[in-house]
Amino acid sequence: MGVNATERLLAVGWDAADGYLIRRMLTERRLPVLAGILGAGTWTPLDGYGGLGDDAHWTSFSTGTPPGVHGRFHFEQAPVGGYQQTMLRRDEPGPARPWWVDLAERGITASVLDVPKSPYVPHPGVAEIVDWMCHGADSDDPSASSAELHRLCLEHRPHGAFRECYRAQHGDEAIDRHVAAVGERRAAFSEAATTWVRSHDHDLNLAVFSSTHCLGHRYPSGEAGPDPVADELKALDTHLGELIEAWGGDPGRVVVFSLLGMHVAPDAGPATEATVRALNRHWLQRHPTIGWRSAAKILRARARGTRGPVPTADVFTPVKLIAPATAIRLNLEGRERRGILPASQREEVLAWLVDHLHELRDDEGEPVLAEVLCTEDAFPGPHHDALADVVAVWRLRCPGRVHTSITDVEPDSPRPSTAADHRRGGWMVTGAGLVPKAGSMAIDSLGDQFGSWLGVGQASAAASTVDTADTE
Ligand SMILES: [Zn+2]
Ligand SMILES: [Zn+2]
Repeated sequence: MGVNATERLLAVGWDAADGYLIRRMLTERRLPVLAGILGAGTWTPLDGYGGLGDDAHWTSFSTGTPPGVHGRFHFEQAPVGGYQQTMLRRDEPGPARPWWVDLAERGITASVLDVPKSPYVPHPGVAEIVDWMCHGADSDDPSASSAELHRLCLEHRPHGAFRECYRAQHGDEAIDRHVAAVGERRAAFSEAATTWVRSHDHDLNLAVFSSTHCLGHRYPSGEAGPDPVADELKALDTHLGELIEAWGGDPGRVVVFSLLGMHVAPDAGPATEATVRALNRHWLQRHPTIGWRSAAKILRARARGTRGPVPTADVFTPVKLIAPATAIRLNLEGRERRGILPASQREEVLAWLVDHLHELRDDEGEPVLAEVLCTEDAFPGPHHDALADVVAVWRLRCPGRVHTSITDVEPDSPRPSTAADHRRGGWMVTGAGLVPKAGSMAIDSLGDQFGSWLGVGQASAAASTVDTADTE
């Protein structure tokens, strides 16, 4: 059926383009195209997930479900019952499909270009490409729903599979080369997307530009000197104008958004390990029987000749996140492969852990954690424990030394600018014809919102079972 030509929707993602920087640049009149849309339209903050990164946010966006339901929290995760973290792929851990496939089932056609970290479910009503030039691609080889789209993307993909966003660049020359390479990719993406949108008619056009994410992790904006991220945003603003023109629809039906902010934050990794080591030591001193049970298990395993990860007496397993957060999993009997903690003690141990995390202080006696989240409360759903039992979010710019009441922990200095707090700073700008349902919105509700702008009440099949009278 399709929607009326005047009701088409153009949705443009600028990945991890921090809202604070965007607002500043709007005030300074450096983003004229975005300012034009906002002039008659609306600014809506998007609420992100504490301590979680790219994967949780993008998968929540595309599946219309929160992380506890889709189960993808971080690009590396250990499966429940395992200790070895491995890369997740877009079809793991559970079956889920993006809302644009549900829309296509209802006759709304879509073109979806390079949405990161989303389940890829080919559908005749959707022209889609994944792993083209997004930040943190699942695969070096893009997948596309048609040969034409695949060809277009391969013709526009300078530097091929691009690993350089994960490597710190040192020295002016290397940084210039890196920034130039990211810019070349963005320009190529824009050219291909503009060509595609001009020559194909879809009800929904969704395209995600990732260059601001690639640069944002490396070059924090707002500091003195060159500001590659701000320069990149100016280029994206120009491309936005070109894309709107090629699309040819009503500029009032354009939405530009960023799910993620990009606040500079310390990488909590080194501090996590030291802190969790101290917690384990302390717990075992007070509960030696756990230690004996564990030792007995390890001896039995050795006698059988089996080896595996974590042959220790640990009650708490640290989960390494590239994020300003510390994630900790309880080594529970019955759930984890070498679980040593009786499941009946879970609540008690969890409470003990949360208390002790709250006690962590810096040199000035200030708490080092901004919040401590129990995953079952913060991320409810069948997969709430897929990552951890507790996610502790570090305070921004917290110092390198951490003290606990148990023992002094002196981790390596956190390394600012290697991680970002993505939770704060998400935003959406919508044109005059698109009024958001709420003054601020959850990432997982955007699909429903886009669906309603395309004339269908609830986009996702799961959401359509909800009584709409109760959700006002
Ligand atoms: Zn990121
Ligand atoms: Zn990147």
